[in-house]
Amino acid sequence: MNIILLGPPGAGKGTQSAGLVERHGMRQLSTGDMLRAAVKAGTPVGLRAKEVMERGELVSDEIVSDLIDAELAAMAPETGAIFDGYPRTVAQAEALDAILAKHGRKLDHVIELAVDEDALVARITGRFSCANCGALYHDTAHPPATPGVCDVCGGTEFKRRPDDNEETVRMRMQEYRAKTAPILPFYEARGIVSRVDGMGSIEAVAQAIDAILRG
Ligand code: AMP
Repeated sequence: MNIILLGPPGAGKGTQSAGLVERHGMRQLSTGDMLRAAVKAGTPVGLRAKEVMERGELVSDEIVSDLIDAELAAMAPETGAIFDGYPRTVAQAEALDAILAKHGRKLDHVIELAVDEDALVARITGRFSCANCGALYHDTAHPPATPGVCDVCGGTEFKRRPDDNEETVRMRMQEYRAKTAPILPFYEARGIVSRVDGMGSIEAVAQAIDAILRG
């Protein structure tokens, strides 16, 4: 099973991907996570991507499609892929078709997480993660049970993404509306798009996604 989770920043793609990995043993392929790792490691890709990401703009189609191609090449063919934050342009969607064909895979579902954009800014600017294990939290919606201590690993260091500030979030949403939303018709023509109300609880959204996967 190969699926795309589509939706504006803060729609819950990362959270839902983590759930799918846990429930179904799928693999999350997040170009955002890959790029942040490249920035942290100071690789040539990271050096090219850093400032673009800090502005909330999109990095080049070629960079992200190469990252996805390399990840799929290293994956067992029977492991399902969740594309999270990719494709983000029509050119990337076309590249993904070619990459999937090359690796003997096909796309089963495109799941759009539909969300109220005004609520997204609050969602995104409140989010943070454990610096040790990566567990995801939110200032108001999902703080750790003991303030300052990670529920999962007991870590006490937390971090926020540098692009999770209001100005950059607005730019990321604009990029989504202008460049990413237009890929929906590309997949709608194939009859593989489903919409889920992304404003529901994490559990409700997860159940709706599982119902789609069961067909
Ligand atoms: P994300 O973690 O998916 O919100 O991505 C964070 C940032 O990484 C985005 O604002 C872009 O600058 C960059 N990025 C991630 N995925 C892509 C992609 N598929 N195409 C272009 N830029 C991307």
